[in-house]
Amino acid sequence: MSVWSAEYSTLEFSKVSAVQPRIRAAGLAGIEEKLRAGERLTFDDGMRLFAAPDLLAVGWLANREREKRHGARTYFNYNLRLEPTNVCQASCLFCSFARLQPGMPEAYTMSLEQAWDKLRQRASQPLTELHIVNGLNPDLPFSYYTDLLRGFKRIRPTIHLKCFTAVEIAFFADLYGMSDEQILRELRDAGLDSLPGGGAEIFAERVRRKICHDKCDADRYLSIHRIAHGMGLRTNVTMLYGHIETMAERVDHMLRARALQDETAGFQAFIPLAFHPDNNQMRKLPAPTGTDTLRVHAVSRLMLDNIPHIKAFWIATGVELAQTALWFGVDDLDGTVQEEKIYHMAGSSTPEGMTTAALTRLVRVAGREPIERDTLYNVVRTFEGEPVSA
Ligand code: SF4
Repeated sequence: MSVWSAEYSTLEFSKVSAVQPRIRAAGLAGIEEKLRAGERLTFDDGMRLFAAPDLLAVGWLANREREKRHGARTYFNYNLRLEPTNVCQASCLFCSFARLQPGMPEAYTMSLEQAWDKLRQRASQPLTELHIVNGLNPDLPFSYYTDLLRGFKRIRPTIHLKCFTAVEIAFFADLYGMSDEQILRELRDAGLDSLPGGGAEIFAERVRRKICHDKCDADRYLSIHRIAHGMGLRTNVTMLYGHIETMAERVDHMLRARALQDETAGFQAFIPLAFHPDNNQMRKLPAPTGTDTLRVHAVSRLMLDNIPHIKAFWIATGVELAQTALWFGVDDLDGTVQEEKIYHMAGSSTPEGMTTAALTRLVRVAGREPIERDTLYNVVRTFEGEPVSA
C-alpha cells in the first residue's frame, strides 16, 4: 500500500466507536453529535474545544471534518513571496519586519526594476503565484503599486498576483484620497487577481488597541474583503494567535470570519499565524507552544464550516508542526515561498523556501496525498506513482 493512500486515512480514522469513550471523557460528545449531523458549532462549542484537556480528541474531530472535505489531499502551490518595501508608518507591537523610516538600519524599498528582477530571475521556475505584502510606506506614489503589478504581468502574463492586505488597501485609500473600492478597482485593472489574508491579527478591539492601534480596524478589514468578494476577487483570512488574546477572542475572531463567509463565500482559506517574539516590542512573551498550534488549527477546521481550506503556514508554525497539523484539520501548506522576510526577522528558524520535492515528501511521509494547486485551487499537478524523494 502506498504510504499516502486515501483509503488508509479515511478507513482507519473515521470509526467513531473506537474514539467515542475518549470524546465522551473530554466532554465533547455533544459537539461530535452536532458535527456528525452537519450542525453548526456555537461560540460555547468553540470555548469547549479550546478548554478540552484531550488534544487528540479535538484533533480527531477536526481530522474527520478535514477528510470529509478533502480526503487525504493536501494542497500547496509554487509561489514566490515578495515584500518590496518594509518602510511602515504603523507601529504594530508584534512586528519585526517594519522599519519605520527610510534610512534606518535594514529599511529598504525596492525600485520597480529590482522588484521585477525577482520575477525575471525565476524565468525557468514553474511559478503560478506572486504573493506581495508591504509596510505602509507613506513616501511612494500610488503609481508605484499599479506599475509594479503591470510590470509583473508584462514579464509573465499568466502569473497570479495575490497582493496587498486589507490593511494596505485601507492605507492606500486614506493616503491617496480614494475609496477602498476605487483602490481595489484600480489595482484590479492593473493586474491584481486576489488578496492575501494578512492584517486580520485578532478582530477584538481590546487587543487591537494594544497591539496594532494605528492601522485599520476589524470592521474595515472585513468590509474590504466584502468589497473584494463582490468584485469577484477571492481572498484569505488570517488570525494571529499566541500573544495577549483570550480564547474567547479567538472564537469571536473565527465567528466574524464565518459570518462574512456566509454573506459572500469569497474566502478560500483560513490561516492561523503563530506569533513570533524575536526582535519586536512583545519579545517578553513566549512563543505559542506546539500543542496550542495544533489545537488552533483543529478548532479552526471545526468552527469554520463554510471556509474550504485550513492552511498551516509552515514558515510560521515550523515545518514539523505544519506536517503534524495535516492530522489536525489542515489540508493546505501554502507553498514554496522562496523569499520570506516577515517571519525571519521575527526569529523564524525555518528555511526561507522549500522545493516542490521537499514539500511533497513532507506530505507523503505524513500519510497524505500532495496536490500542487494554483491560487484558486485548480489542480496543477498530482504526484501519484512518483517515488518519494529522499
Ligand atoms: S504588521 Fe504591517 S502594518 Fe504593522 S508595523 Fe508591521 S508592516 Fe507595518
